Amino acid sequence: MSSSVEHVLVVGAGLAGLRTAEELRRGGYTGELTLLGDENKAPYDRPPLSKQYMRGETDDTALRPAEFYPEHDIRLRLGVTATGVDTAARRVHLADGTDLGYDALVIATGLRPRRIPGLPDVSGVHVLRSHADAAGLREHLGGARKAVIVGAGFIGCELAASFRSRELDVTIVEPQPTPLFAALGEQVGALVTRLHEAEGVRVRCGVGMESLVTDGDSVTGVRLSDGTVLDADLVVIGIGSVPAAAWLEDSGIPLAAPGDGGGVLTDETGQTSVPGVWALGDVAAWPHATGRNKRVEHWTNAGEQAQILAAALLGNEPATEVQVPYVWSDQYDMKIQVLGIPALADEIVVVEDKGRKFLVHYLRAGRLVAVAGASMVGKVMKARAELAANLQQHAPIG
Ligand code: FAD
Repeated sequence: MSSSVEHVLVVGAGLAGLRTAEELRRGGYTGELTLLGDENKAPYDRPPLSKQYMRGETDDTALRPAEFYPEHDIRLRLGVTATGVDTAARRVHLADGTDLGYDALVIATGLRPRRIPGLPDVSGVHVLRSHADAAGLREHLGGARKAVIVGAGFIGCELAASFRSRELDVTIVEPQPTPLFAALGEQVGALVTRLHEAEGVRVRCGVGMESLVTDGDSVTGVRLSDGTVLDADLVVIGIGSVPAAAWLEDSGIPLAAPGDGGGVLTDETGQTSVPGVWALGDVAAWPHATGRNKRVEHWTNAGEQAQILAAALLGNEPATEVQVPYVWSDQYDMKIQVLGIPALADEIVVVEDKGRKFLVHYLRAGRLVAVAGASMVGKVMKARAELAANLQQHAPIG
């Protein structure tokens, strides 16, 4: 490690920020370490928010117990928003008017839910990204009967399953041809549609939300682009997220164009072209096997990037083995898993289709580049070695 690094400031106290702090200490860093976040809650896990937490099965989402931070000499500063960076002076500006110096800055600010401009501000309309969002949504569930979920990505589909377990009437509205279309393609989307319909969810694809219907105080329905009006006393807008990078716009730190997904541009160790500035997790666009810099919005990715970034920042040898991207999604009693990079595929083959179980292969020039399965844990995981070998040629490192 460069001996000039005496204070690492991590902005964003989520999964990626926490994992970075952990990896720095594990890698032998003994200097000052600040983990700063705008939420008033110590780092917590987001995946349960749409699943176990939403079903009322758990309230405990903390990633580490409170004593972990003093034990590892990590200064946790919560409820503080970073508003800008002076990269020449190496200082981060904070919303309370103060600023904080750093030798190395790690940007781990994640995402903000994408909003639909101009929607009326009425009760019963929710987004889901933070614990506070989840708490508000769960509280509303008690009195709700009819839910409309706008957007059938992973979170929309998981919420549909959680709402059904609480016996709500649920409709999913999705402008694309199927749920999970962008992530997994039409074949898997059709299988997922079947799973939801078997659970009593109405899946309306190829149609978007035109506007909300309200009584002035609360939502009462959703008007679709085909003119249909769906009754609803609960609406979730689940149309994806945007990088929480607006605070960096005047900093000179290079950002990807919004059309490319935005985010902080880095090299294959998370370092930006600005000295002393690094980024990882959902907000960061690292070089990707598709040949472009691309943000990856999955849990496992944050931990893998933290290992690489911390090693590089400390001047240690970074891991060079090919990471096979992994994402899971729990819906009803099924675990949907995706290993590899479906976006690389030029052919999709449904290998097994057994009702509530399926296995799908994604091929490029006949070689396996990704596998998706529902309740096929063994068969999905067995493909890891083959995927690592096949993805090697696409890997930005290794
Ligand atoms: P985040 O966890 O978003 O953390 C970023 C933190 O930075 C936040 O606390 C944010 O408030 C803070 N911040 C933002 N701007 C500022 C600022 N200017 N100043 C200070 N702090 C700031 N992935 C899976 O693989 N499987 C799943 O099943 C799955 N389920 C999910 C369910 C939900 C409901 C959600 C929301 C996500 C899910 N994910 C899942 C994705 C996974 O949780 C994310 O990939 C992961 O949280 C990314 O971590 P991160 O630290 O990059 O971002």
